[in-house]
Amino acid sequence: METDHWDSGRLNQYQLQQCKELLIFASKHSPYYQEVFANIGFRPEDFDSLDQLKQIPILEKKTLITENSKIHTKFDFGGKLQECSTSGTSGSVLRFGRNEEWDSKNRAAQLRGYAWHGIKPWSKNGYLWGYNIEKGKRTKVKLIDFVLNRFRIFTYEESEIRSFAKKLKHAKFLEGYSSMIYEVAKRVNELDLGKDIKLLMVKGTSEKIYESYQSEVIKAFGKRMISEYGAAETGIIAFECPHGQMHINTEGVVVEVEDGEIVVTNILSYSFPIIRYRLGDGITLAPADYQCLCGRQHPVITDVQGRIGKLIQGRSGTYPSLTLYYIFKNIDQNHGIELNYQAHQTEKGKLLFKIEQEDEGHKALIDVEVVKYFGYDIEYQIVFGQTLHTMNGKLKDFVTTVD
Ligand SMILES: [Zn+2]
Repeated sequence: METDHWDSGRLNQYQLQQCKELLIFASKHSPYYQEVFANIGFRPEDFDSLDQLKQIPILEKKTLITENSKIHTKFDFGGKLQECSTSGTSGSVLRFGRNEEWDSKNRAAQLRGYAWHGIKPWSKNGYLWGYNIEKGKRTKVKLIDFVLNRFRIFTYEESEIRSFAKKLKHAKFLEGYSSMIYEVAKRVNELDLGKDIKLLMVKGTSEKIYESYQSEVIKAFGKRMISEYGAAETGIIAFECPHGQMHINTEGVVVEVEDGEIVVTNILSYSFPIIRYRLGDGITLAPADYQCLCGRQHPVITDVQGRIGKLIQGRSGTYPSLTLYYIFKNIDQNHGIELNYQAHQTEKGKLLFKIEQEDEGHKALIDVEVVKYFGYDIEYQIVFGQTLHTMNGKLKDFVTTVD
């Protein structure tokens, strides 16, 4: 909170200093970075501008896995490291230890974001993750939830939705996967349970928040869904303020954009330094002189396009799955029609579009955009009125069995 209203000059100075300290620490205690810095002749002691980061090679997720033990710093943090794990691409799991100060400062950044919306750390909250928790583990989960003053649903049956909505009337906020919040909002509206739900914050994480989600969410919970953007290894990258802008957590990360993709340095990551890491999201930054109405001078990310992700296979070419995002964004921008979609590929050169909305009249709009991006390289089918979510985890916008 102390740095919340610092001017940009002071914030930048602080960030530069913190970044330098991390680089020096990594060069002393991480065998991996000792090697990398020696190879390129990089001297963190001389670091006096963030531009100098560009000398350091980009770090990929697979390197975090293959060089895992060499990246970890050999330093006694005076206590146990918190064990973290996060699933990587192609099923491999990234594991790392997080030192206490990293964890605490990251929590502080998160709780500061909550404070922007009037949320206290102990405020009652609903929690929506898609995991099907086994019956035997529910007691333990319920105990932890009790301590954190939160509640969740374990199934999506009508009785559970009703009881969840009832509890939300006494809660201050709701958080979870954005697709899951949307699905529950739709159920709440169908059953007309939203009347007395007045939350201060509805926070979506881990997935892109589509504009098409917002009308159901506002109707059900009384607030627009806001975004917390980050990952376990990067910490909180940005948090959305009440004026709808995603402010970068300047006290915790350095954000660069290369070829439209985010490159993150986590300046808190002493036990497992994350320096110039390609997270895999396309992002857009606001101009450097952009001033948010909330008065905060932390820079703003205007758009997260989502994971660059897997490739769609045409008969002759390949296309990033992000193409799907542009197809449907264009339809929204040019015609004001928001469609929820999921594309399936089981055969090279063929694509099945599942659309949640019922109105088949939109087919012509999709045709125009699909041809624009894929030409006639992909043969496709469109089906309307589909259920897209399995409620078992994240909602994927592209599902493929073609490698
Ligand atoms: Zn703001």
